[in-house]
Amino acid sequence: MKTRRILLIEDDDTIAYGLTQLLADEGFETILVRFLKEAMEVEPGSFCLALLDLGLPDGEGWDFLERLCTVRTTEKGGLQKGFAPPVIILTAREDEADIMRGLDMGADDYVTKPFLPGVLLSRIRAVLRRQERFSGEEEMISCGKLVLDRQKTTVTAGGERIELTAGEFRLLFCFMENKNRTLTRNALLARLWDNEGDFVNDNTLTVTVRRLREKLGEESRNLIKTVRGIGYRMEDCDD
Ligand code: CA
Repeated sequence: MKTRRILLIEDDDTIAYGLTQLLADEGFETILVRFLKEAMEVEPGSFCLALLDLGLPDGEGWDFLERLCTVRTTEKGGLQKGFAPPVIILTAREDEADIMRGLDMGADDYVTKPFLPGVLLSRIRAVLRRQERFSGEEEMISCGKLVLDRQKTTVTAGGERIELTAGEFRLLFCFMENKNRTLTRNALLARLWDNEGDFVNDNTLTVTVRRLREKLGEESRNLIKTVRGIGYRMEDCDD
């Protein structure tokens, strides 16, 4: 059964009130928590999403994020059957260092205040859709005209087969699996190459992205956006 409960960790009453109304109009029930201490005691598995403020009266939102990401890691290791909902950081802090820290730690998105309600809602929808896809483990992932078959490890654009190297395929898979999510360069490097044992520097990533874009052709290459100073984001307007 899909829950429609959102955990809102926010100490500003005005923002909390506005958000609760906004989310209620979208059919979400919002549970508000104002202190880090309370947030740390909440059972995260009963929520479909967490909206996290960083500056809280009794501490930093980072502690909460770290806790959730630990649950996720344990999940992957198969040691504990817990569910950690996706997290969107919602904060006034707009420093590149904070954005990168949040995304590197495993936040699903980072939205700065003041935010446009419509933009926040579409970010929320994108994160929830990705979560559904992830749990469904779909065999085919699509973005625009691109279709990736994870079983056959093939990629087509408008039905035309595109030949990719193993590295390019892994990179594209990572982008498509995380569609509409900003991936930092560090996260991509760790995800794509750490198991291979090859020496990889930042430049390799830049080159692989460039080659991948060239192979994807005019129409599809624009789906991979460069997020200046941070990393990349694959966007699908139709999604
Ligand atoms: Ca705050």
